[in-house]
Amino acid sequence: MRNNPAATEERRAPTGVNPPAGDLPRASAPLEKAFTLVHRQVREDQLCVLTFDRPDSSANVFDRATLEELGGHLDFLAQSPAVKGVVLTSAKNSIFIAGADLHAMASASANDLAGLIELGQMVFHRLASLNVPTVAAIHGACVGGGFELCLACDYRVASSDRATKIGLPETQLGILPAWGGSTRLPRLIGLPRALDLILSGKTCAAKQALKYGMVDDLVPRERLLEFACRKILQAGAGLKRRRSRLALLATNNRLFATAVSLRLESQLLKKTRGHYPAVFKALEVVSKGVWRPLGASLALEREAVLELARTSECHNLIRIFFLQERAKKQSYLPGNAAAAVKPVQRTAVIGAGVMGAGIAQWLTSRGSSVTLRDINAEQVAKGMAGVAQLYREGVKRRLFSRIEARAGLDRVFPADREVPLHGMDLVIEAAVEKMDLKKRIFQRLGELAGPETMLATNTSALSVSEIASGTKSPERVVGVHFFNPVHRMQLVEVVVARQTSPEIVQRALRYVQQIGKLPVVVKDSPGFLVNRVLMPYLIEAGLLFEAGASMEKIDEAMLDFGMPMGPLRLIDEVGVDVAQHVAEELEVKFSDRLRAPRVLSEMLKAGLLGRKSERGFYLYNAKKPAVNSGLSLFQDKEWAKSLGREALQQRMALLMVNEAARCLEEEIATEPADVDFAMIMGTGFAPFRGGPLQYADSLGGQKIVGDMKRLADSGAGYFEPCSLLQTQAAEGRRFYSEKEER
Ligand code: NAD
Repeated sequence: MRNNPAATEERRAPTGVNPPAGDLPRASAPLEKAFTLVHRQVREDQLCVLTFDRPDSSANVFDRATLEELGGHLDFLAQSPAVKGVVLTSAKNSIFIAGADLHAMASASANDLAGLIELGQMVFHRLASLNVPTVAAIHGACVGGGFELCLACDYRVASSDRATKIGLPETQLGILPAWGGSTRLPRLIGLPRALDLILSGKTCAAKQALKYGMVDDLVPRERLLEFACRKILQAGAGLKRRRSRLALLATNNRLFATAVSLRLESQLLKKTRGHYPAVFKALEVVSKGVWRPLGASLALEREAVLELARTSECHNLIRIFFLQERAKKQSYLPGNAAAAVKPVQRTAVIGAGVMGAGIAQWLTSRGSSVTLRDINAEQVAKGMAGVAQLYREGVKRRLFSRIEARAGLDRVFPADREVPLHGMDLVIEAAVEKMDLKKRIFQRLGELAGPETMLATNTSALSVSEIASGTKSPERVVGVHFFNPVHRMQLVEVVVARQTSPEIVQRALRYVQQIGKLPVVVKDSPGFLVNRVLMPYLIEAGLLFEAGASMEKIDEAMLDFGMPMGPLRLIDEVGVDVAQHVAEELEVKFSDRLRAPRVLSEMLKAGLLGRKSERGFYLYNAKKPAVNSGLSLFQDKEWAKSLGREALQQRMALLMVNEAARCLEEEIATEPADVDFAMIMGTGFAPFRGGPLQYADSLGGQKIVGDMKRLADSGAGYFEPCSLLQTQAAEGRRFYSEKEER
């Protein structure tokens, strides 16, 4: 090991003697090299303020250069005995430090990564070992390496601002906190809570962070820096001595840690089904490290992170993070043309059902005013009740205060008759899914709306081009397809119809980004992208059920595969009527290979709509959903009864792969990454597998084509692999190059 950061515990006794003040320059000492990422100011009161401020960026991140600059400041402090204490803070508006630079990490060689981890541990250890008190003054996102830095300080004060969010989300990226976070957090707040935070990767709002002991004080943002400085001046060396560890003795010991670890491991196994190695590794490192000397615990962190960084799970999870970042920034038009599109301010939503109410609530919660229109007072009242309910849930989940929820609700303007739409920037239609109705609505919208109004439909499966065809200026019609429930689902498909102008696509894309959702641009085609790929999978689940496979076996198989919910359960959640409708729409276009299972139409006839009617594949009237055994009536074949877990998974997953490849072939989406991203964000497709096309690459084209052909030859012709899959297999090509994958 190059640098052994800590052979002993790092908290040292403060120095008793203060060196003469004359040793310390009044302003910053002239520096040997320019500091561009972390600025130093030594104040008249001998406090040193280190401010993180990465140039030309709204965020601070930790890369090698930042760590080295911080190290440079620590050198200075080591030679400046008059300094009384150090405050670390950020100059950014809403970010303290957003963790490690993932781009640098993802492209680093194994050696470079090992060096970076060691460097971070060493620099943070030097910070923790300073003889003067150190205080982190946190405002904004303080996550990953950012919080690990704070954990190496003696005291943490955070702004009570909404922007302040604190946590260690590394396990969500397939790694674990390895700059001391897995070691110092349990030593600060106790093993159980530290494990909860590290294994879930959740970030905490300021108040919660205070409650958990992750920070010591909250103050308004304006007073943050002064408070931090005053704390040092008042408490002085006491800050280093203040924490009694007695309270932690009961939890941070070998016996307790072993017992907790055993219990959590079985819970994690149930939750992850053995996927996501990072959580298991983090559990091991934290529970073994907590009763070992600090240096030994840091060594465990280092070893574990290097092992995890090599896994495909880590590559895939980090890639999803990059794809999210890309979706937030992507443009449809080049530079100036993209910047020139008119922003959306005034919005009307037509149709106050499940989706209309959900969209209105989401938009108003972000400060916009929305007109919510339906056909009569009763429907409008239902819609308003839906919006109010969503706000109530938000208050319960502490997303809003009561006052904010009230203000949000007040921004919805209900309308039970035609309202002037001339001044609207955007109208989103979310009325009943019927082509005739939608065409009539758009014809009328064309007359009522102003020349600059963008007209969007939220249709799930109807042709946007056809909806647009009756409108006065169809070039301003676009699909903006939100998913249900709107407040939970981040993905929005921006659907480009035949007539949609590029400016409108750009405007819709920017709008989706502006409202905090993640867009994917897709071509107008039945089911667009997500429903198109999902449907063959859901249909196959229905067919397997009809052919004798039990509901539990089908759903369990796909949970084991890594889906967040089994396919039959998902049909219940989506609504049997909605699923049946989308299946029928797709059946029309792809009649050669798609056939909606009979069980769906039978369920509809019997009023089994899924969760909304409390009866579907499962019954929802008890505490836990129970299998609806009455449906065995529709199991009129037997061949799927004996299929094992892997055979079931293979059939359902390969159909998604095939459809995803077809979407690429037909240019429904332009890149494999768009398809994978949309499937992960829109359906929860096993994130650690990286999406259906990444999954295909991991299996290999030849294996996929071979397996599909075998299934097709055995009587299920719809397994015939598409020509893109066949060509790729024949030519040994993949969806992603090795480099892209990283
Ligand atoms: P819904 O049945 O809950 O609501 C539709 C609303 O439209 C009703 O309140 C109805 O009164 C109203 N309406 C009917 N005609 C109207 C008109 N002429 N003017 C104004 N309002 C009118 O339906 P929903 O589930 O909210 O779906 C709405 C749209 O969103 C559909 O196109 C659907 O395909 C799509 N969608 C639904 C989901 C979903 O899961 N529910 C998901 C994504 C997209």
